[in-house]
Amino acid sequence: MSEELNKIIAKDPEQLEFHQAVREVIESIQPVLDRNPKYRHAKILERLAEPERVVSFRVPWVDDTGTIQVNRGYRIGMNSALGPYKGGLRFHPSVNLSILKFLAFEQVFKNALTTLPLGGGKGGSDFDPKGKSDNEVMRFCQSFMTGLYRHIGPTMDVPAGDIGVGGREIGFLFGQYKRLTHEFAPVLTGKGLGWGGSLIRPEATGYGAVYLAAEMLATRNDSMAGKTCLVSGSGNVAQYTVEKILDLGGKAVTLSDSGGFIYDETGIDREKLAWVIELKEVRRGRIEEYAGKYPEAVYTPADPTLDYNPLWHIKAECAFPSATQNEINGKDGQALIDNGVFLISEGANMPATPEAVDLFVDHKILYAPGKAANAGGVAVSGLEMSQNAVRRNWTREKVDRRLREIVKSIHQSCVDACDEYGEQGNYVAGANIAGFNKVVNAMLDQGLV
Ligand code: NAP
Repeated sequence: MSEELNKIIAKDPEQLEFHQAVREVIESIQPVLDRNPKYRHAKILERLAEPERVVSFRVPWVDDTGTIQVNRGYRIGMNSALGPYKGGLRFHPSVNLSILKFLAFEQVFKNALTTLPLGGGKGGSDFDPKGKSDNEVMRFCQSFMTGLYRHIGPTMDVPAGDIGVGGREIGFLFGQYKRLTHEFAPVLTGKGLGWGGSLIRPEATGYGAVYLAAEMLATRNDSMAGKTCLVSGSGNVAQYTVEKILDLGGKAVTLSDSGGFIYDETGIDREKLAWVIELKEVRRGRIEEYAGKYPEAVYTPADPTLDYNPLWHIKAECAFPSATQNEINGKDGQALIDNGVFLISEGANMPATPEAVDLFVDHKILYAPGKAANAGGVAVSGLEMSQNAVRRNWTREKVDRRLREIVKSIHQSCVDACDEYGEQGNYVAGANIAGFNKVVNAMLDQGLV
């Protein structure tokens, strides 16, 4: 293990997810450090792994029974070498500093890959929106923003959504920011279309993951047409991943939530997808209901006693993990390969454990890590900021075209970095090296800050 990693682990020994994210980057960039001794001299790794700032605050609110609830809110400003902090807010009971630091760290490299002027950050709360009424979610969001508003701003930090934070939550957060500051400022992305949002922002992460898959397939003169795809999750990213798979002629056969997964061998068509979107975004129901509505599908409840996830053991050619971190372990990774999956594009952040990642790289499958594969979301957030700055709304076609161009250039940056360092086909190394190079040069230019 490198000396730098040892030091980073010793500082916060309990932050396992953060170590996992840092370790992967440090391992990938060793050849870059060996070629550029000045990076080690400048203590670049230690600086990258230390957030510029971490804010934690109390979030008290009153539930529908009149009972006081207290949650914890956070915002991490990881690195602002390339622009204001940019990254989502996650509302999920598992949120803690380790999870948010891993996400913020990944975000720095991901944002650099987009070539847009965006630094990296992340935030959220251990609040669980599941089962809460709209009024409870609103009261929580208002209290959360009351703790957060003095730390964000259009040139300082511009949060977006992530797990548990979609259009409804962004609306409540924006409303409270406006009320507190007396300003209609573009301080969040993922806003509603009528009040500063961008077309294609809700779709962007899922679309981007499939566009990147198409780029990887093109290197083998192949396409998404006719491919059977496994998709996990059933939230924002999963929904628009399925839509783009359909657009490009593929077939998605699975979706999941924390309760379990459905397998629809006949394929999730547009009508079924529209039903899922209504289920998740309007009725806020469980994916289990899919099998009641469409009897050709089989529902398998999640079994916490298993040491694998049966969703990844279904025969397919492509996989789009779109739920959460570490949802594919070594056993699942081996099953994916054994069952014929030769392409994985990560809509979720860090969904594969290090054992699974090693298997994908060793077997030379087309494997795009989250930093490259799900950067479409933040890219269109960057485009939303551009539109807000010039007070214009771009057409759907224009935003989609820019998204495709950005994904193409991310793919090319990865391929170029792989070529330069003799790692052909290793998109993990490619994404880490290309992202690192962009950030590190800006950090050196700006001195010891
Ligand atoms: P979302 O709309 O809240 O959906 C999350 C989905 O994943 C839900 O189906 C949820 O099921 C499932 N899930 C979450 N935590 C889980 C867990 N611990 N175990 C099993 N299932 C779990 O969130 P999202 O925006 O689609 O985000 C999904 C992933 O994409 C995350 O890794 C996120 O960081 C990443 N991502 C999102 C964006 C974006 O623009 N939204 C951009 C880049 C990356 P339940 O409802 O049962 O919890």
